[in-house]
Amino acid sequence: MTHPTYPLLFSPLDLGGVVLKNRTLMGSMHTGLEESRDGFPRMAAYYAARARGGVGLIVTGGVSPNRDGAAAPFAARLDTPRAASRHRLITDAVHREDGKICLQILHTGRYSYHPLGVAPSPIKAPIAWFSPRMLSGYGIEKTISAFVRCAQLAQDAGYDGVEIMGSEGYLINEFIVGCTNHRRDEWGGDYENRIRLPIDIVRRTRQATGDRFVIIYRLSMLDLVPGGSTWDEVVVLARRIEQAGVSLINTGIGWHEARVPTIATLVPRAAFAWVTKKMKGELSVPVVATNRINAPEVAERVLAAGCADMVSMARPFLADADFVRKAEQGREDEINTCIACNQACLDHVFKKKIVSCLVNPRACHETTLPSETARVRRKVAVVGAGPAGLSAATEAAERGHEVTLFEAAGDIGGQLGLACRIPGKEEFRETLRYFRRRLEVARVNVRLGHRVTAAELLAGGFDEVILAAGVVPRVPTITGIDRAGVLPYPAAIMAPEKVGRRVAIIGAGGIGFDVAELLTHAGPEPDSVEAFLHRWGIDEEGTRRGGVEGTAPDFERSPRQVYLLQRSPGKLGAHLGKTTGWIRRATLAHRGVVTMAGARYRRIDEDGLHVDVGGEPQVLAVDTVVICAGQESRRELQAPLERAGKRVHLIGGAALAAELDAKRAIADGVRVAASLG
Ligand code: FAD
Ligand code: NAP
Ligand code: SF4
Repeated sequence: MTHPTYPLLFSPLDLGGVVLKNRTLMGSMHTGLEESRDGFPRMAAYYAARARGGVGLIVTGGVSPNRDGAAAPFAARLDTPRAASRHRLITDAVHREDGKICLQILHTGRYSYHPLGVAPSPIKAPIAWFSPRMLSGYGIEKTISAFVRCAQLAQDAGYDGVEIMGSEGYLINEFIVGCTNHRRDEWGGDYENRIRLPIDIVRRTRQATGDRFVIIYRLSMLDLVPGGSTWDEVVVLARRIEQAGVSLINTGIGWHEARVPTIATLVPRAAFAWVTKKMKGELSVPVVATNRINAPEVAERVLAAGCADMVSMARPFLADADFVRKAEQGREDEINTCIACNQACLDHVFKKKIVSCLVNPRACHETTLPSETARVRRKVAVVGAGPAGLSAATEAAERGHEVTLFEAAGDIGGQLGLACRIPGKEEFRETLRYFRRRLEVARVNVRLGHRVTAAELLAGGFDEVILAAGVVPRVPTITGIDRAGVLPYPAAIMAPEKVGRRVAIIGAGGIGFDVAELLTHAGPEPDSVEAFLHRWGIDEEGTRRGGVEGTAPDFERSPRQVYLLQRSPGKLGAHLGKTTGWIRRATLAHRGVVTMAGARYRRIDEDGLHVDVGGEPQVLAVDTVVICAGQESRRELQAPLERAGKRVHLIGGAALAAELDAKRAIADGVRVAASLG
């Protein structure tokens, strides 16, 4: 039967013997569980939850076909029957839930974090630690055999297919592109020779695994590096890959070393679907669109616009294992939307931490943070409806407790209400929409516009009080801080029109950067795809190598002159996320923001902000100073409650203001609810 709202998303797709129940593909993500001691049972639970949630086809995190290709010394690889037998736990768990799963074969080439890495030519990647060794002709033959053997082992382990990773700048991509392949033998030189590796891998994998095994090829459609492939070259490769016997071509956008954002939250939704659409017109094999597709309506729109036959979403399935099922049942307002922050997923990969999700701390912790019913139903008060309080209240209510949530402001959200006003952070609105609906479904008694007092909490007969009262902005001691032109960040964010044309921002943490973004952004409206592509110099015509060669970023003029200052020496934004900090720094640089480290604040007066930088006194002739100097915990209710013998739980910013973020706030909420019994 045709689905009334998402007719295309919920139509089956026949991949030549293997029929997928819908058009959703869970894209490959490394989770860190692949290498952890208890990883296989945890991965089985993680993937099974997504299969139960209705995903059409799951692709695992990348697994290397041999030692050279592993991402790091002990990273996951599949090259022996013994290794294959461990994967049975995953494939059986997924199949029990009526799901389908492919293993991604990833040879990292010169991006490997170990000294045994190999590449077509010994050219070090700008983001790598080690120079790779050049593969010999024999080494290339062995590498192809390793890919084929890995696919056969995956088949033996019960996988429905494999995805051959040919994009993102890894080994296969390095062979294809002239700037990383300087060989003069039959694997280098002209394009025909450079694409021989992927074609041989696909052809021989098909021969070895038979007709009914799914083979996905992840094709780098837009390298986003100078010297990358031209569009015509990519089309030639796609056609040859099709002839070699793939079932599905997935889209790859951008090498890891590309200096263009591809998945961060400032990238508009489905910003690269046009690339897949162009390719779809060239092929008959089904194609998959990727990047910043995070809602069922976006997925349906991509399919309806003829961009693709299927949509890949990766992080959205960390954020919500039941995404597909909720969309199918018309409960899309209950979907926990991925906000593309990277804070608990990709940033964790770089810190060698198990991946999770800012909006869903249970992701990859399915076995250690299960949702359970409480043994004893308690009457619980939660103070504050910021992310910590929202998380605690909903979790506690879902466990069966009777929960009242008090919020002083007229709406839920706390500081997230400010975050979603920052251009490029609008996705936080989805988090608020999600919690608003979850409070209703979990039947939490919500008291908005009510600043609760200790006396009320004591009189209310609550068994437990959770203090999630958050933080207050810090006011540094600087002469003149109380002048009219000095604004704390909440005031500047709520009313940017009150901020003058020359601004100094005191404090260059996450909020200082966000305020600078807001004040230098040309317009209040969210970015269109066209504006985004133009700003980052991405060529839509397909005439430039890699889609960027010879182009330059072109940012709109900032409406204000902004100075961003911190007292510590060194790079500004050093504590921003690894995968997004560079984008934020580049954006502000393109907008002409002047950054100053090692500043000593002297005073603020009618001439502006007086500072010493590197021992030199300076006057920044600004009309507004915005204070983004961190925060302090709000805990005034704790002492009177504890004096009266009440058990108080502190979470989020109320517990600790230092290094607070929404990730910790939401995770605190889940943990405190579980601790109530
Ligand atoms: P808060 O969000 O401060 O919420 C506390 C709530 O308690 C408030 O709504 C307050 O009104 C209420 N309250 C206090 N006392 C009482 C009382 N007595 N009775 C009733 N209600 C009371 N974090 C990230 O992880 N990623 C980001 O990208 C990010 N961007 C940000 C951008 C901006 C501009 C800002 C301001 C913050 C950003 N943050 C971000 C930080 C994040 O919003 C905070 O870490 C998080 O909101 C803290 O959560 P919390 O629930 O502990 O406190
Ligand atoms: P923060 O990251 O701790 O930054 C505070 C800034 O204020 C620093 O630059 C600090 O640098 C300065 N400062 C501290 N005390 C000061 C004082 N007494 N006088 C003058 N300057 C002082 O805090 P934040 O920017 O307020 O952010 C709050 C939390 O929200 C952070 O933990 C952050 O992770 C999170 N957040 C995250 C994002 C994100 O994109 N991931 C965005 C926004 C916020 P110096 O001491 O060197 O001057
Ligand atoms: Fe999405 Fe952020 Fe969760 Fe990663 S941590 S899955 S980007 S919401």
